[in-house]
Amino acid sequence: MGKYIFVTGGVVSSIGKGIATASIGRMLRNRGFSVAPIKLDPYINVDAGTMNPYQHGEVFVTNDGAETDLDLGHYERFMDVDCVRDSNVTAGRVYKAVIDKERKGDYLGNTVQVIPHITNEIKERILLAGRLQNADVVIAEVGGTVGDIEGLPFLEAIRQLRKDVGSENCMYIHVTMIPGVGPWDELKTKPTQHSVIKLREIGIAPDVLICRSKKPLSEEMRDKISMFCDVQRAGVIEALDAETIYEIPLMYERSGLGDLVADRLGLPRTEPANMMEWEEIARRANAPSKSCRIAIVGKYIENRDAYLSVQEALIHAGIAHDCRVHLDWIDSTTVEDQGAERALANVDGVVVPGGYGSRGAEGKILAIEYARTRNKPYLGLCYGLQMAVIEFARNVLGLTDANTEENDQQTPYPVVHLLPEQRNIDDKGATMRLGVYPCRLEPGSLAARAYGDAVAYERHRHRYEVNNEFRDQLEAAGMRLSGVSPDGKLVEIIELIDHPYFIASQFHPEFKSRPNRPHPLFFGLVQAVLEPSDRAVVQSAQASAV
Ligand code: GLN
Repeated sequence: MGKYIFVTGGVVSSIGKGIATASIGRMLRNRGFSVAPIKLDPYINVDAGTMNPYQHGEVFVTNDGAETDLDLGHYERFMDVDCVRDSNVTAGRVYKAVIDKERKGDYLGNTVQVIPHITNEIKERILLAGRLQNADVVIAEVGGTVGDIEGLPFLEAIRQLRKDVGSENCMYIHVTMIPGVGPWDELKTKPTQHSVIKLREIGIAPDVLICRSKKPLSEEMRDKISMFCDVQRAGVIEALDAETIYEIPLMYERSGLGDLVADRLGLPRTEPANMMEWEEIARRANAPSKSCRIAIVGKYIENRDAYLSVQEALIHAGIAHDCRVHLDWIDSTTVEDQGAERALANVDGVVVPGGYGSRGAEGKILAIEYARTRNKPYLGLCYGLQMAVIEFARNVLGLTDANTEENDQQTPYPVVHLLPEQRNIDDKGATMRLGVYPCRLEPGSLAARAYGDAVAYERHRHRYEVNNEFRDQLEAAGMRLSGVSPDGKLVEIIELIDHPYFIASQFHPEFKSRPNRPHPLFFGLVQAVLEPSDRAVVQSAQASAV
């Protein structure tokens, strides 16, 4: 029988439950255990793919092409595992499966109800996640906050699982907040007490409380929380804000949480946890000797979570270079209003991340023109490749009004057009080109040097592609199509020959970056920023991994 950790959240949303879950996973990995993280999302969307990045933040894409909640990105980066479609269970997926079974007659005339049918479906998916990934420990995070109506079937399911798997094999961790109120920021435990009462009403007694707080908790405060919430004293964990999120597993480890979890679940404690690699990551992240400034030019800048993996990938590249990467978040519509010269005056490099639609697209094109003509290192991600091709077509090839069919159906020069297999698709959900595909790298190119390899396997999420009719013209003018699909039909990477570092990918490299293994394209960007030269000598990122 496997082991199970259930993580819930109380008081407010956005208190870092995902990072707490990811950090617990890291502590177990550092003890040599395998983990299968799973995120249970109570919303009715079947997946996060149809959700607005303003509301929901980034859509994280797994190797197997699922469009998932951004917490899976934290899991992958912290636990160094690859999540799969089944790592994200939404209420929408659960209900859809149950309704499909009902239509097939699988319930043999029974009345189909939330309990037991929906809860059974949730439980099966949690148990399946552990079995499929052959994990020592399944860590299941329930999205939302205790007390939310839509979360109830999920909480009921994890309550029932205690009986199913045995209470010695599972534990409940509640992430809560201790707010500071009044002029002296007096810490208050009452919201936590209420949140735990709510949880106990449902039948779940937490083993651990992770208490997010701006100030350290006094001994009395911990005693009080322990007593009123009926949680053992050692299970009251103080979780202060950290300088960098990569320090959080270390902070938890110091507070004894790792050992507490291992003991509670009866996991063998053969050797002390090996935290060395993570100490080195945190050390490099906290006190780097160099710094640089890189602009992220996008249209969802008001919600930075929309670019979470891009942000983290830049930080990882910085860690490898002993460099603090300051991020300048630039709304692409501002570039349209102010001009690129002003908007990008202080930056050393430019990233145009993924995007959709026409709003702000012209600003991205201006930013790319600026990077190209001023020899500023540039990395384009998906839409950032498509916009770079449009910019080059317009300003170098002289194809005025060149565009992507996504934004101008009538353009005389559709340099970016719909993928052929997308032509007859009407549904919006899960219909893009998704997940991992191989990409052949042209020997000697910047891309091949950066990867130090001949093939790259990268994750995709797009409907449009470079129009092959324009390939010869682009290449003749100095744009190298340095990465293509194995059959050669699809452009996956472009780069500029006469530029120190100008590279863009049709895929999303940011999803595969890890704090101890920066992604080569991000690593190369920071390197080009730190060592400006006519032609960046990009060495393989592996060489500088922690
Ligand atoms: N909108 C573009 C497409 O669908 C780019 C998508 C993206 O950046 N992820 O192809």
